[in-house]
Amino acid sequence: MMKYSLETAGKINMSEEAFDVMVVGSCMTDLVSQAPRLPKAGETIHGQKFFIGFGGKGANQCIQAARLGAKTAMVCKVGEDFFGDNYIHNFKDNGVHTDFVGQTSDAATGTASIVVNDAGENAIVIVAGANMLLGVEELQGARPAVSRAKVLVCQLEICPQTSLRALRMAQENKVKTIFNPAPAIADLDAEFYRASDVFCCNESEAELLTGSSVANVEEAHQAGQQLLKRGCGSVIITLGPQGCVVVKAQGLTSTHVQTTACATVDTTGAGDSFIGALAFYTAHYPTMPLEEMASRANRVAAVSVQAVGTQSSYPFRRDLPAELF
Ligand code: ATP
Repeated sequence: MMKYSLETAGKINMSEEAFDVMVVGSCMTDLVSQAPRLPKAGETIHGQKFFIGFGGKGANQCIQAARLGAKTAMVCKVGEDFFGDNYIHNFKDNGVHTDFVGQTSDAATGTASIVVNDAGENAIVIVAGANMLLGVEELQGARPAVSRAKVLVCQLEICPQTSLRALRMAQENKVKTIFNPAPAIADLDAEFYRASDVFCCNESEAELLTGSSVANVEEAHQAGQQLLKRGCGSVIITLGPQGCVVVKAQGLTSTHVQTTACATVDTTGAGDSFIGALAFYTAHYPTMPLEEMASRANRVAAVSVQAVGTQSSYPFRRDLPAELF
């Protein structure tokens, strides 16, 4: 198992590898128990099923981009534990480069302990653990690779300052940035907008960031324009089964990009599938209009809602029609 150190950072600096998509972000192991009902405080109950899933917004987005054919690398931190080792295997199984995956003995791999009852309601405890220790050292190790990448993607499931530093590092090197402000924080540092070529969030994140209702397409247009004024290149607000709204500074356009209705099984992780696909299209088709990328990302994410789970529902290139490539 490769452990992150200054020594390995030096070796990485020598590498001339150029990635299509680099993601600086989180990985979480989902520990999911299905039970007839949620336990009360102090109570022990029997469940009927348990499974371990791979999650974390950063890792989800990276894996979706990789499954579409992007050459990807993940910059993240896991614990020196079973879950950390297991996650590194998961990245490798999906063709994601793991040279910048650090392991620490100072915290456990991030986990989400989830109980789901028969009515589909859930109770979740997230312990971000090692994710919060991803910092300057790892970013410095990844700097040469970031400077050669086509696209960098960040979210807010790690220390926000690490995300901002990564976005700025990319921008300084003219690498396209996609920022997903999730989970949203109301008083987001204004610098995040200026560091985002594409600022992509869902309705509830747009609501929190603008302080206005985003309950329909018209309100999404308005929220998108409000967010755009804060300094990003473009804004995408995803709208579940209604697709998304794309607002661009260039030409000052605001477009509703619809998606086609499909049989929905489980929407968990659809937003990350959309962003992973968007990163893939940005890297592979840099001159494609953003609305067309969003339309194709809608179609990729629509596949993800037709199966159970997060990464387990993400399509591979071979599962998708040729016209998407
Ligand atoms: P999640 O939190 O579940 O990961 P999200 O709230 O971040 O999702 P959404 O806006 O719900 O993100 O969905 C992201 C994209 O997934 C949408 O823009 C759309 O393309 C697709 N999508 C989501 N739900 C559906 C659906 N029911 N039918 C078709 N496409 C969907």
